[in-house]
Amino acid sequence: MKIAVIGTGYVGLVVGACFAETGNDVICVDRIASKVAMLKKGKIPIFEPGLEEVVKRNHAEKRLNFTTKLPEAVRGADVVFIAVGTPTGEDGSADLQHVIAAAKEIGRSITGYTVIVDKSTVPAGTSELVHAAVASQTTHPFSVVSNPEFLKQGAAVEDFLKPDRVVIGANDKRAGDIMTELYRPFTRTGAPIMVMDCASAEVCKYAANAMLATRISFMNEIANVCERFDADADMVRKAIASDRRIGAAFLFPGVGYGGSCFPKDVKAIIKFSSDKKYDFKILKAVEAVNERQKLRLLERVDKHFGKSLKGKTIAVWGLAFKPRTDDMREAPAVPIISGLLARGAKVRAFDPEAMKVAQREFKDVKNVKNLTYAKSAYDALKDGDALLVVTEWNEFREPDFAKMKTLLKQPVIFDGRNIFDPKQIRGLGFTYTSIGRP
Ligand code: NAD
Repeated sequence: MKIAVIGTGYVGLVVGACFAETGNDVICVDRIASKVAMLKKGKIPIFEPGLEEVVKRNHAEKRLNFTTKLPEAVRGADVVFIAVGTPTGEDGSADLQHVIAAAKEIGRSITGYTVIVDKSTVPAGTSELVHAAVASQTTHPFSVVSNPEFLKQGAAVEDFLKPDRVVIGANDKRAGDIMTELYRPFTRTGAPIMVMDCASAEVCKYAANAMLATRISFMNEIANVCERFDADADMVRKAIASDRRIGAAFLFPGVGYGGSCFPKDVKAIIKFSSDKKYDFKILKAVEAVNERQKLRLLERVDKHFGKSLKGKTIAVWGLAFKPRTDDMREAPAVPIISGLLARGAKVRAFDPEAMKVAQREFKDVKNVKNLTYAKSAYDALKDGDALLVVTEWNEFREPDFAKMKTLLKQPVIFDGRNIFDPKQIRGLGFTYTSIGRP
């Protein structure tokens, strides 16, 4: 099929590259000319494992191309994906301005029957708005489909090529059949393609992210209770995870969830529920717990050093909101490092991928001159009064503790991701605090 993808962010680029991989003829559009120029050279503007190879290969084989000109890409396309951002608006709602702008431009550009697919995460009812936006610009026939994306950054290509399920919201059979055909190569291992109405498909994505965010906040609350009883949240986690009704995923206590999706999607579902006079109480609590949890490590630091960190140097391992990505949107590292700087500390941070992004992220933060970036995890420790572990990159898990002790001025570790064994590390002479473990 001939496919156009509008937006070449984490989602659009993966969608475009993976549909090209199954033999389709794909053009990806972005309005940022520098991104498009980079992609045309076979380079990708983000860190996402495995993606560059797929992009390069399909670009070289001429199945995947890039442009800034939306009309050129959409003209003659069978299927057009909208994969632009839906950031949080001022009132917490999903800001649909990019989706609607893209829909109108698509409307002006189609030349015959086209399936227009909403890949962006959008509130229930958006397919009708997209339909109206397209219809205001064209007399050609078209269908609007809602096809939420469930990929995880850090494993995006793998998730897209081998999905747990594909959700297709289509209010007409013709569009549903075309989408089913398009996804068939990805579901040969038996993953279901679930065709439903558009509103249900739209809610699916929010329900999935809200459920995962709820598990994280729930487990963080369990950890906070464990601390008050000298109980071990890790033992509790393992015990409940072995219950088949509960399962093991998304039950790790830590410094809270971040990223471009969970915080924004939890806010959006609260808002679109309240627009329909429904008070989504659980999710309001999930959000409040998460905001508090992001500050847990700082509370520990205050307890250990007192409120002022003047004259102290603190090492931070991890900036990205999770491992295997360079994304820092809503990353817990932002309030944590900002808090350290506000208390007068010097901060030496290290992240395997996110340090370039961090320089943009922190540029307006108070005392930013006291934040420096280290060449390696060990380099970050030099003359440090303590280490804070904020992101659980694999390479932080088995460090040379003896070397760490010689580099740090004081062997103090605040572990926000529970990556070290408390017994082992205290045996080596570190003062060690983690989340929910005695
Ligand atoms: P992103 O911000 O990384 O990328 C969006 C891209 O769209 C940008 O490059 C921007 O320049 C481009 N764009 C915006 N308007 C445009 C227009 N009119 N024409 C051409 N290009 C345009 O966003 P993302 O992380 O890829 O997310 C996109 C959507 O997918 C969001 O709704 C998000 O919630 C959803 N989603 C994201 C993930 C994820 O892990 N990042 C997972 C599932 C779903």
